Amino acid sequence: MNDTATLERPTTKARAGVEHFDILIVGAGISGVGSAYHLQQQCPDKSFVILETQETFGGTWTTHKYPGIRSDSDLHTFGYRFKPWVGKPIATAEEILKYMGEVIEENQIAPHIRYRHKIHDASWSSADNLWTVHAENLATGEQLTFTCNFLWMCQGYYRHSEGYTPEWKDMDKYEGVLVHPQTWPEGLDYKGKQVLVIGSGATAATVIPAMAPDAAHVTMLQRSPTYFIPGRNAIDIAEQLRTLQIDEAWIHEIVRKQILYNQADFTRRCLEETDAVKKELLGAVRAYLGPDYDIEKHFTPKYRPWRQRIAFIPDGDLFKGIASGKASVVTDEIDRFTRKGVLLKSGKELEADIIVTATGFNLCMMGDIAFEIDGRPLNWADTITYRGLMFTGVPNLAWVFGYFRASWTLRTDMVADFVCTLLNHMKAKGAKKVEVALRPEDRNEPVLPWIDAENFNPGYMMRGMDLLPKRLDKPEWQHSQDYWTEKDEIPKTNFDDAAFVYSP
Ligand SMILES: Cc1cc2nc3c(=O)[nH]c(=O)nc-3n(C[C@H](O)[C@H](O)[C@H](O)COP(=O)(O)OP(=O)(O)OC[C@H]3O[C@@H](n4cnc5c(N)ncnc54)[C@H](O)[C@@H]3O)c2cc1C
Repeated sequence: MNDTATLERPTTKARAGVEHFDILIVGAGISGVGSAYHLQQQCPDKSFVILETQETFGGTWTTHKYPGIRSDSDLHTFGYRFKPWVGKPIATAEEILKYMGEVIEENQIAPHIRYRHKIHDASWSSADNLWTVHAENLATGEQLTFTCNFLWMCQGYYRHSEGYTPEWKDMDKYEGVLVHPQTWPEGLDYKGKQVLVIGSGATAATVIPAMAPDAAHVTMLQRSPTYFIPGRNAIDIAEQLRTLQIDEAWIHEIVRKQILYNQADFTRRCLEETDAVKKELLGAVRAYLGPDYDIEKHFTPKYRPWRQRIAFIPDGDLFKGIASGKASVVTDEIDRFTRKGVLLKSGKELEADIIVTATGFNLCMMGDIAFEIDGRPLNWADTITYRGLMFTGVPNLAWVFGYFRASWTLRTDMVADFVCTLLNHMKAKGAKKVEVALRPEDRNEPVLPWIDAENFNPGYMMRGMDLLPKRLDKPEWQHSQDYWTEKDEIPKTNFDDAAFVYSP
């Protein structure tokens, strides 16, 4: 039997101690599990394995354990297109994990997942048209080697082991408890305690109303305000259709369409009717906080709506907490930490028993895996992305990088269709290798950073921009973050276009 024949066989021990799969999926978060589902459906002849560092599936929804942890976008679109979401639109981590567990069980995905398997490096050999992946079994310490024809990167975009905390002066002098939401200590007792939450993003907006009822008081300290959308945690049309006993699969489809239509309209209005949208957003906050509250200072951002992700506040719980007096907002900057809390640039000191740094993530490029292409270390910043999912000079690999302004999972489903169509196309052509490459008409285009900071500029992206691949100012050579154009363009990809280079 020749080498090729050996490598074609599913799950064979190709070389002593080396396991081979057609596809290796990195990560069992919502992207990895969704990709596995589509792979089984669309490429049933392919063998595959999912390697996952954690002890269980869920990614983001298992590693984050802070009080109140929940989605900030609706689960009709954050859920997969193939499995109806039947609960409230904003869901807890527990509800999301239950949903994912059902997907795994209903589709027999569990036998394909290897938990506590951390991938350290991956190297591509053009001589063999093969990836070799080294992983550690964290349970046994065993070093394992896998080979695969195609790597499907579903490792997310941030480092799970620790969040981002800025360096403030005299942090070491603080005598209270300092926690980052990403590494929440089990059983942290905050009953009757003074809590200070630094930050004003979705995490702060979740943790504050969750802690406020039990804490003595929770203060949100923000350097600058953020936009929020408060609203009822329910979708009218879903409730109406349920009253009519419409099939859940239909409800899922209709509600998704309605939400996506509304979001497209909202995005358009943010650009074309910026002042009106701003007024509506601030008016909704005003309705909770009353006429005397200083909305101008605490809830009126300097940037235009939609430049950063806007968190939905279910049932206005953050604002109810503030209105009740159990929570409050301070807009100021930290000068330094003190023994008892923080000293602000205004000269005021905020004392706290617990300080929560809801200050964001550390961007992590491809799961901190060291990549090599034909013996040369790969620097992702030297590559140019095709649609934010493939990269020049990196054969047989796709990355699921979702949306920030729409639910992440919309893109998981879409990328899966792209990858499966590509794999089937390669099979039909008899190709073993595919790579994206700039065409003659692309070569003189200026090479730009991954994301246009004028369009979207969250802190972790800006901090990590030098790690990320580059883009061109053409739809096919960037991740546009625009679901509404990509949903039409990506399914029409011509895999015989000169941007795709195949080898037998
Ligand atoms: C608190 C929070 C709330 C969010 N809420 C929303 C929301 O409401 N809507 C929305 O659209 N987006 C939301 N996001 C963004 C969110 O991260 C994504 O939507 C989505 O969960 C990402 O899924 P993923 O599977 O791509 O990545 P992750 O959830 O990050 O999972 C990746 C998995 O890969 C594993 N992995 C990584 N590296 C390796 C390696 N080297 N070896 C083996 N395994 C590895 C990790 O252990 C992890 O389990 C939220 C993010 C956070 C942090």
